[in-house]
Amino acid sequence: MADFHFCCSECGLEYPEDPALLVCPECAKSQAPGGATRGVLEVRLESLPDRWPEADTRDPRFLEAFLPVRGAESFPDYAAGGTPLTPAVRLGKALGFDRLWIKDDSRNPSGSTKDRASLLVAAKALEYGLETVAAASTGNAGTALAAVGAAAGLETVVFVPATAPEAKLVQMVAYGARVLPVEGTYDDAFELCLAACREFGWYNRNTALNPFTIEGKKSAALEIARSLGSRRPEVVVVPVGDGVILSGIAKGFADLRAAGLIEDVPRLVAVQAEGSAAIAKAWSAGAAEVRPVPGAHSIADSLTVEAPRNGRLCLRDIRESDGGAVTVSDDEILAAIRELASLSGVFAEPAAAAALAGLAAAREASLVDTPDAIVLLVTGSGLKDLPAAARAVTRPEPVPATLDAVAARLRLP
Ligand SMILES: *Cc1c(COP(=O)(O)O)cnc(C)c1O
Ligand SMILES: [Zn+2]
Repeated sequence: MADFHFCCSECGLEYPEDPALLVCPECAKSQAPGGATRGVLEVRLESLPDRWPEADTRDPRFLEAFLPVRGAESFPDYAAGGTPLTPAVRLGKALGFDRLWIKDDSRNPSGSTKDRASLLVAAKALEYGLETVAAASTGNAGTALAAVGAAAGLETVVFVPATAPEAKLVQMVAYGARVLPVEGTYDDAFELCLAACREFGWYNRNTALNPFTIEGKKSAALEIARSLGSRRPEVVVVPVGDGVILSGIAKGFADLRAAGLIEDVPRLVAVQAEGSAAIAKAWSAGAAEVRPVPGAHSIADSLTVEAPRNGRLCLRDIRESDGGAVTVSDDEILAAIRELASLSGVFAEPAAAAALAGLAAAREASLVDTPDAIVLLVTGSGLKDLPAAARAVTRPEPVPATLDAVAARLRLP
C-alpha cells in the first residue's frame, strides 16, 4: 500500500487523493497558451522502498513498491513493461558511441510505451470502481487503453484523429474499444474527449491531464536503473510529443534518488519532430512557457501535437536533468528507421526511430559525447505504421522461382 498525495507542478499546492481530481483547480483557472494543460499534478509517495524489491520488474509486487496503488492486487493481469534493455554494440560502433543501449519498449503488449501509463490508470479505475475510461490519443495511448481495458474488463472510449495510422485504429477496435475517429487534429480530439468525460461521467486518461499517466511511465526508468546497476546511464534519449514520457522517466529517476537507490540522475535529451517542436523551441530560446505550433505536422504521428499538454513540466525536467532538446526532420526519421532496424534488429515506428535520429543531432549540439553511457528509448513498434516504414525502404520486385533469377537478382557469380 503506497500512500501518496498530489502536488501541483506549477504552484506547489498539495491535494489528497481524489478520483475526481485531475489538474490543480487553482492553476486551471488561468488559460495556458493554445490550451495546453495547466496545473499538471505530480504524485508524491509518502514512502519509498530503501532497497530493490526481489520481484521481477514486471511483477505487480515490484510495481506496488513504487507506484501509487493500494496493493499488487490493484493491477489487472496485463504484462506491461519489463521490456529488454539490450546493448546496441553494432549500432554504437557504426555511429561511434562506446556504450549504447536500446530500451525496447516496442515489446510492450500493445506495442508501445503507452502500456505503462494505461496499466496504472486502469489499476486506479478498478480501485475507484469506475466502469468506463476514455482517452484522446494520436493512436498508441488509445490502443494501450483499449488493450488493458480488455484485460481488466473496463469499458473504453477512444478519440483519435481520423488520420491515425490504420494499424493503430484496427488494433484498438479489435481490443473492443468504442473508437471515435475525429475529423480534426489530435488537439481537437483531446478537447472533445475532455468535454465528453465531463458530460458522460467517464474517467479521463488523457495524457498529462490524468496524473497517473506521468507516474505510470516512470516504470521505464526503474527498469533501466535496475538492469544497468552500477553501469549507470548518463544520458537517456526520449522522443517527445506532449512530454509525458520524458517527465515520467524524470520522475522515476527522481524517486530512485530520493529512495537512495541511485546517486545521479541521467541527462534527458528530448527529441522532437521539426514540424512539431514546441518544447524544443522553448528550450532553445530559454523560454519559461511552451508556445503552441499551429498546424503541427510530422511523419511521426505519435509526436504531432500543437500544444504539448505537459510542455511546462517537460521543459523543467529537461533543464533540471542538465539535458537538452533537439529536432529531427522527416527524412532523418525515415533514415533512422532503416538504420536502427538493420544495425540492431529493432523495428521502430517513426516516433520511436526519432530517438536514434536525435542522437546524431544531440552529438552535433554537444549534448552527448562519444564515451557517454547512453540509452535510446524506442517507444513503439514499426508494425504500427507500415506505410511510413515503406517510405524508408525499396520493396523488391517479385522474381521467377528459378535459381538463375536468384543469382541475377542478388548479382551472384
Ligand atoms: C506517445 C508517444 C511518444 C511521445 O510521448 P509524449 O508523452 O507525448 O511526449 C513517442 N513515441 C511513441 C511511439 C508514442 O506513442
Ligand atoms: Zn497549482
